[in-house]
Amino acid sequence: MKTLVAGLFIALLIISCSRGPYATTNKAYKKQSKEYAKLLREYPVADSTGLNFAPSWVGTTNFTMRRPNFVIIHHTAQNSCEQTLRTFTLTRTQVSAHYVICRDGSVHHMLNDLLRAHHAGVSKWGNATDINSSSIGIEIDNNGFEPFTEAQVNSLIELLGRLKRAYNIPVTNFVGHADIAPGRKVDPSRYFPWQKLADSGFGYWYDTTSVQVPDNFNALQALRIVGYNIKDSTSAIQSFKIHFTPADSTKTLNEADRKILFDLEKKYQ
Ligand SMILES: [Zn+2]
Repeated sequence: MKTLVAGLFIALLIISCSRGPYATTNKAYKKQSKEYAKLLREYPVADSTGLNFAPSWVGTTNFTMRRPNFVIIHHTAQNSCEQTLRTFTLTRTQVSAHYVICRDGSVHHMLNDLLRAHHAGVSKWGNATDINSSSIGIEIDNNGFEPFTEAQVNSLIELLGRLKRAYNIPVTNFVGHADIAPGRKVDPSRYFPWQKLADSGFGYWYDTTSVQVPDNFNALQALRIVGYNIKDSTSAIQSFKIHFTPADSTKTLNEADRKILFDLEKKYQ
């Protein structure tokens, strides 16, 4: 009897999983990840052009999967989680993120952390480029003109803790899309609670603004040391302000910004 009940339960589970609103895209995910698994089992190993450039193959016994080393936070700029899940499951959009956090704090996981999502685009942090290859992307359901909900922030902090522990991600590497793509992106918006995140160990925040900044202090260089791409300095300043001085919408570094950067820079030395 027990076996029969268990069997029925499993059958029901299989039916419900294969019929949900995302049954087709779940199937597509499975198919695509199977193709990648096949690629991993291949040996001798060919490079991406299909050439075997090292004719002598000796399989080592010592290896693991590559791990993400950054977390990039976004707001969806859409009006509901359903809308975002739909966008990320349409092939034509070619965009995705590892996690989507809805307004009620529920979290959707959309691909394995060890796979590459399409969320960062052309971006740079420090000297790191192709951030999609080395990061986890987290999208928060928010239209960009409203505060983030408490439930979202709580879920986010819990998720970040798990990711930080699982992949040993350094505190400096929890940043926003605007931080890594100045002039191109402005998410997460000025409503995002970066200080609260820093208090929990994700990203840095400045300790004091009651410092005496030396006249020869180079604030732009400090921005670069923190990680910003300063090729377009106005855009870099805008991204810095979205993150650290959200109430200030001016486009130049003022004395208050110089103090923040002077204090912040020391943490990155
Ligand atoms: Zn984004």
